Amino acid sequence: MQSPTNSSPPWHEALERTRARSPASFEQWFCSVQIDSLSDGVLALTARDEFVRDWVKTHFLPDLLSQLESVTGGEVKVEWRVSNDLVSPVCEPKAPRERRATPADRVVPSERPAPKSDRSLAERAGLAASLNPKHTFANFVVGPSNELAYAAALASAGGGGPRYNPLFIAGGTGLGKTHLMHAIAHKVLEKSPRARVIYTSAEHFTNEFIESLQHKKMDEFRARYRTECDLLLLDDIQFLAGREQTQEEFFHTFNALRDADKPIVVTSDKYPQQLQRMPERLVSRFTSGLVADIQVPQLETRVAIVRKKAELEGIPLDDAVAVLLAQTVKSNVRELEGALIRLAAKSSLTGRPIDVSFAEAELARVAPRRPDVMSVEDIQRIVCSHFRLTNADLLSKDRHKSVAFARQVAMYLCRQRLKCSFPELGRAFGNRDHTTVMSAVRRVEELRAKDPQVNAHLEAIEQRLASSED
Ligand code: ADP
Ligand code: MG
Repeated sequence: MQSPTNSSPPWHEALERTRARSPASFEQWFCSVQIDSLSDGVLALTARDEFVRDWVKTHFLPDLLSQLESVTGGEVKVEWRVSNDLVSPVCEPKAPRERRATPADRVVPSERPAPKSDRSLAERAGLAASLNPKHTFANFVVGPSNELAYAAALASAGGGGPRYNPLFIAGGTGLGKTHLMHAIAHKVLEKSPRARVIYTSAEHFTNEFIESLQHKKMDEFRARYRTECDLLLLDDIQFLAGREQTQEEFFHTFNALRDADKPIVVTSDKYPQQLQRMPERLVSRFTSGLVADIQVPQLETRVAIVRKKAELEGIPLDDAVAVLLAQTVKSNVRELEGALIRLAAKSSLTGRPIDVSFAEAELARVAPRRPDVMSVEDIQRIVCSHFRLTNADLLSKDRHKSVAFARQVAMYLCRQRLKCSFPELGRAFGNRDHTTVMSAVRRVEELRAKDPQVNAHLEAIEQRLASSED
C-alpha cells in the first residue's frame, strides 16, 4: 500500500486504524478510492463508481469518520465525487503484472441471438440437473458474513453493480459457496436461456480433462471450455492442488475466457494465497478480480436461514425452536439444515409436534449440545478468520511474522478469556513449550498497550468473539 498523499498526519493515522480492522477488505475497496483533500472539516473523496462509493460509505466511513473526529477534535463531513480516473488511489491495486479488473469493467455474458454452435439439448438438461432449483438468490439469506459474496455473485449474474472478473468466492465448508454458484447460473439462464453456462466442480473438470486426453478428444474439450462458454462457474478449485497438468489446462482456459471478457467465478475453501501446491501464475489470476469471502454466519443470520429453510420445506417451526437450532449448530449451515430436516422427519414419524422440549431432546441426542462457553478452537477459528489464515497455519511451525503474530494473539486471547494454563495452551497450539506461550502472552500485552494498530486488531477480534458467544 502506498501512503496516502494529500494527507496530514492525523488523517493518515485514522486511515491506518481503519485499515487495521480489516486489512484485506480495506485494500480491496480503497484501491478504488482517492482522497482529494481534508480541509475545514470536509473530507473530499473520489470513488471509481457508485458501487464502490456506496460500499465504502456503509462499511468503512462510520469507523473512519469517528477515528478522524477523535484525532482532529471536530466534526468531519464527507463530499463524494465519482470518477473512473483515479490518479492516486489510497491503495495500490493488487497484482500489478495483471490487467486488473476494475469496478468499471462490465463483463456481461454474451447474448447471442443465433449461436452457431449451440449447446445440445442433452447438455442443457445435464446442466439443469446439476443445479439445485432451490439454490437461488431469493432463497439465500444475506447477513454480514456473506453480503460481499452475495453482492458480487449477483453482479456477475448481471443483477446490477460492477462485475469483477474473475470473482473468487472463498469460505469454509457448508457456508453457501455452491448455493451462490447455482444462483448465478439460474439467474443468467432466466435472463438469457441460450447463454452457454458451464457449472462444474474442479474435480469433474479434472476427470473430463483426463478422459479427453485418453480418448484424444482435447479439441472438443477445449472448444467446450474456451470458445463455447459464456460463463464458467468452477466449484471447489482447491481440488486442483498439485494436479499440474490440469492446472496448466485450466490456466489456458482461464486466459481464453478472460481475454474474451467471459465471466469466470471460482469457489474455494481457502483464500487464493493459501492454496497449497497451486502455481503462482494461477494464484495471481485468482486475485486479479475480486476475492469475496463467506464467514460463519452470526446468530441472527442463522435464525433467518433456519426460518427460510423451514418455509421452503413446508416445516412448521416456532421462533423458539428456530433460535434453539441456530444456537446449537453454529459453524456450518449444511449441518444446521440437516438438524432441521432430522427434526421434521422425526416429528412426522412419531407424530410429535416440533416444540422446544422435543427439539432439545432430539438435538441432545444427535449433537450433544456443547456447553455455551468458548473453547480454544473457537478462539483459534476466529483469529484465523480475522487474519485470513488457516488453522493449519496457526498450529504450524511457520515463523513468518504475520503467522507468528496471529498465533501470539490467539494465545493471548485464550489465556485471557479461558484462563487456560500455559502448558495446556502449549499443547493446543501444536505442542509448543509453555515458555513460548508465556512470552507470547506477555508480548501481546506489551504491544497492545503501546501500539494502536495491535489494539485495533484485538478490539476487532474481541467484538467477533463477543458476537459468537450469543
Ligand atoms: P459450500 O459450497 O460452501 O460448502 P453449500 O452452498 O453447499 O456450501 O451450502 C450448504 C447448504 O447450506 C445448502 O443447502 C445451502 O442452501 C445452505 N446455505 C448456506 N448459506 C446459506 C444462506 N446464507 N442462506 C440460505 N441457505 C444457505
Ligand atoms: Mg460447495
